[in-house]
Amino acid sequence: MARYTDAVCKLCRREGKKLFLKGDKCYTNKCALDKRSYAPGQHGQSRKKLSNYGMQLRAKQTARRYYGLNESQFYKYFLMAQKKAGVTGDNLLIICESRLDNVVYTCGFASSRAEARQLVSHAHFLVNGKKVNIPSYLCKAGDVISIKKKSMDSEKFKTLLSSDVHTIPAWVSVNKEAGEATIAQLPERDQITAPVDEQLIVELYSK
Ligand code: SF4
Repeated sequence: MARYTDAVCKLCRREGKKLFLKGDKCYTNKCALDKRSYAPGQHGQSRKKLSNYGMQLRAKQTARRYYGLNESQFYKYFLMAQKKAGVTGDNLLIICESRLDNVVYTCGFASSRAEARQLVSHAHFLVNGKKVNIPSYLCKAGDVISIKKKSMDSEKFKTLLSSDVHTIPAWVSVNKEAGEATIAQLPERDQITAPVDEQLIVELYSK
């Protein structure tokens, strides 16, 4: 599987949106997009009018990059979203939001989705009391995500839990002292802050 290894801030600059890929730095005035709000590369500053297809492609890339997903995984979620009742675009974002790595980040147990993914893979979390080390595990309403007791004592988690940079949405209730979070309900579309026009993604994949 191809893995992106270049500077992640370039991805935000390419999409022209903050994708929050760098942890705490994204909330400071060191954010690369705030400093250089144009696409990277030699022609990054030339203005281009995007075609319809271009806009659809950018919407899809933005969502993929925001959630740290590869092409095939993201397309798999689209197919799942299509099969569910309701609006496909909304379903797609709700599925992405319910991934365990995203929930861990959303609850403030990691400073970025990439870090959340690594911490989950390294088996630092329990879901309903059982070890889960699969970042793509899809959480459900009522699931309780907790940091393993041994991991709670590490400096890493002490630092992470003391940070308060991003706002925790209402669909999860977090007890940082206990290192525990409960999913009250899966998010509604209006509770999802991903900077994505999901309708464009549906149009792209429906061609
Ligand atoms: Fe994106 Fe964060 Fe880098 Fe800013 S600091 S460009 S939000 S990854």
